[in-house]
Amino acid sequence: MEKTNSSEEMSSALISKLPENIRKNLRCPYCRAALEQVNHHLHCSDSICSAVFPIIDGIPVLLNDQNSLFSTNTTIRQHKVTKLLQRQPQIQPGLVNRLLNWLSNHSPDISKNINAKENYHKFSEHLLGISDQPAVLVVGGSVPGQGIELLYNNPHITLVESDVVFGPRTMIFFDAHDIPFIDKTFDGVIIQAVLEHVVDPYRCVDEIHRVLNDRGFVYAETAFIQQVHGGRYDFMRFTHSGHRRLFRKFKEIESGAACGPGMALAWSYQYFLVSFFDSKRKKQFARFFGSLTSFFFKYFDKYLVNKPGALDAASAFYFMGQKTELPLQDNELKSYYRGAQLG
Ligand SMILES: [Zn+2]
Repeated sequence: MEKTNSSEEMSSALISKLPENIRKNLRCPYCRAALEQVNHHLHCSDSICSAVFPIIDGIPVLLNDQNSLFSTNTTIRQHKVTKLLQRQPQIQPGLVNRLLNWLSNHSPDISKNINAKENYHKFSEHLLGISDQPAVLVVGGSVPGQGIELLYNNPHITLVESDVVFGPRTMIFFDAHDIPFIDKTFDGVIIQAVLEHVVDPYRCVDEIHRVLNDRGFVYAETAFIQQVHGGRYDFMRFTHSGHRRLFRKFKEIESGAACGPGMALAWSYQYFLVSFFDSKRKKQFARFFGSLTSFFFKYFDKYLVNKPGALDAASAFYFMGQKTELPLQDNELKSYYRGAQLG
């Protein structure tokens, strides 16, 4: 098996989805040594580590199996099963299931992110202030996050979309506890609705800090008052102050509620209704009824989301910050509080 120069070989079509100028910065998620492409795999160039990573449908799978909820072998297996199922003829569901599917597809949305669009606009301006062609890592970007379309339409911004699932926009598959890029690769990192789903958000944010260049920006949105979503992959919640501490190695540009108390109330009400039932069908009906009778709460958030009370009762918070080597000290957190319980 002949080994070739990593950066030359990685320019080939195999890692087709990853922007070419980013491929050379890929690193081993175990030891951060350079990677070499050998046929359909990436090999760690460190002779002691010598880890091997698959490339699946043009997407490199760079997992540190020792430090992740996800494993490379399971990922390969699940991808094969998904492909097989896609080739099977679709079985028409029964009448009740068709009705339930219709109800779930036609339920009014109880969620509304009020500030994301405006925040992405500001974020893109910050990025273009430090680089003509900023490279931005999107962690959890297999499907579009709310408001992010603005960045898709900007030809000057290069997005590198990563996830731990194969979605329509996945370019690279990794776990944010070990980001497989060399230090200071990116001008920006976006992590929207992800940090509540990781086991060690502090480690993930340290990794974000590491892969950002010295003036790089982060934009994060993280759940606060939202019931368990994502089933077995839901681990954390943060208050506004707790979220600030999570990003203590960043200078704050702006933060606040992304989704307000109205959305939090609708979620609580819907989960309250669903908790009465055990059967899947009854839960689906309860969810539909809950949506139908509470979707309008989200409209209150247009009025509430930027009030101090929202910092105590929001459904999700955002944080926009710039990398700094002067972290926020814990004794500064008390004066950071800006909610409605002052005085
Ligand atoms: Zn290695």
